[in-house]
Amino acid sequence: MSKKEFICIGCPMGCNLVVEMDEKTGEVLSVTGNSCRTGDVYAHKEATNPRRIVTSSVPVDGGDMAMVSVKTKSDVPKKMIFPVMDAIHKVRMHAPVRIGDVVIHDVLGTGIDVVATRNIHAGKS
Ligand code: SF4
Repeated sequence: MSKKEFICIGCPMGCNLVVEMDEKTGEVLSVTGNSCRTGDVYAHKEATNPRRIVTSSVPVDGGDMAMVSVKTKSDVPKKMIFPVMDAIHKVRMHAPVRIGDVVIHDVLGTGIDVVATRNIHAGKS
């Protein structure tokens, strides 16, 4: 049996979670320290398949700002964070860009799109 400790990010209370895992099967045996069900779900996910939203920015040609902020539309496996960042850093956009525009479709086969999170109007940059 092994133990993992996390701080729940479900709300500002920041409960200290302790997860007991079966080392052989990788299964979660118990979760303690959570004050609600959200913490239990978070602990299971964090212990077995941690995922994160990736945020970054990409250059924009011909816009009123030189960069547009972007993010993955949903969380990606933690091990994919740096490969996804590398993929984003290869992209260049052309103005105009609108919030929600797809910057990379199905980034690295994750099934998740990278989208713009602000508007960039055509202009000089
Ligand atoms: S376990 Fe519940 S109460 Fe505690 S931080 Fe997470 S969401 Fe908030």
